[in-house]
Amino acid sequence: MSRYAGVEIGGTKVFVAFGSGPDDLSPPVRIATTTPEQTLSAIADLVAREIDSAGVDAIGVASFGPLRVDPAAPDYGHMLRTPKPGWSGTDLLAPLRALGLPIALDTDVAGAALGEGTWGSCRGMQDYAYVTVGTGVGVGIMVAGRPVHGRLHPEAGHLLVRRDPAIDPFPGICPFHGDCLEGLISGPAIERRMGRPGADVSPDHPVWELIADYLAQLAATLCYVAAPQRIVLGGGVGQNPHVFAHLQARLSRQLAGYLPDLDDPAALASLLVPPALGDRSGVLGAVALAIQAQARSER
Ligand code: ADP
Ligand code: ZN
Repeated sequence: MSRYAGVEIGGTKVFVAFGSGPDDLSPPVRIATTTPEQTLSAIADLVAREIDSAGVDAIGVASFGPLRVDPAAPDYGHMLRTPKPGWSGTDLLAPLRALGLPIALDTDVAGAALGEGTWGSCRGMQDYAYVTVGTGVGVGIMVAGRPVHGRLHPEAGHLLVRRDPAIDPFPGICPFHGDCLEGLISGPAIERRMGRPGADVSPDHPVWELIADYLAQLAATLCYVAAPQRIVLGGGVGQNPHVFAHLQARLSRQLAGYLPDLDDPAALASLLVPPALGDRSGVLGAVALAIQAQARSER
């Protein structure tokens, strides 16, 4: 049986796991995201050791961005301008290419979506989205079974949402837009609003309804733009049950009956779901990318 390396590169931590799917996966090894040189060589060392011990057939990388995911582009695999110090312009794939295996790359959220589509909550579906609300807000969108790429890749976390300053005076913390979605509901935004981490805010605090309302605006937009069969909600904030509890009602109110398919609670419950793969969506998505890389190399 083939064996793959799944590499999920996040802004604070990297996970690397080896195997062929959810029932055959080594416990993910965690590496701190520090400088690009240090981080990428630690990843390459781990993979190289695995090649020598158990064997690896292909590598999949799912990374934070923005990054160039078009294989035909001259700067394929490079990180674009990012606020993360030292990472702008980094060639993510160079140290791994040296290992001589087929490699595939996509964003962390497209990877997580692919993982959920291959083995998790979106199995058998062609059109779905994975939303993470954590340190940032990211959205991977699958249309006709493929991640939406186009000119770059979706950046729907920066959606400009409707905010009523009389109800919510918080101006947001996005360095580019202030009160875009990420500026209003990311983990750091909640911490800034509340003066303490979201995990320490009581379940009955009205802020959760507010967060759910903004997140529902993203869900409604996704429904109008891409008509997904399912929207998976991951990340520390996205999986917070107090947010989830209000989400369906908020989305229903915003859609106002306009989309007949979603005009009942059962349909909304089937639309909005937590990740079936839990915290492993991303790293398993990277494994799914590796499987695609191997298939391409054999064609
Ligand atoms: P990352 O986005 O870095 O991959 P997470 O999805 O765990 O990781 O997001 C971390 C952010 O989410 C932090 O800002 C943290 O304060 C916030 N967070 C984690 N758990 C919760 C929670 N239960 N409720 C609200 N915010 C949370
Ligand atoms: Zn923004």
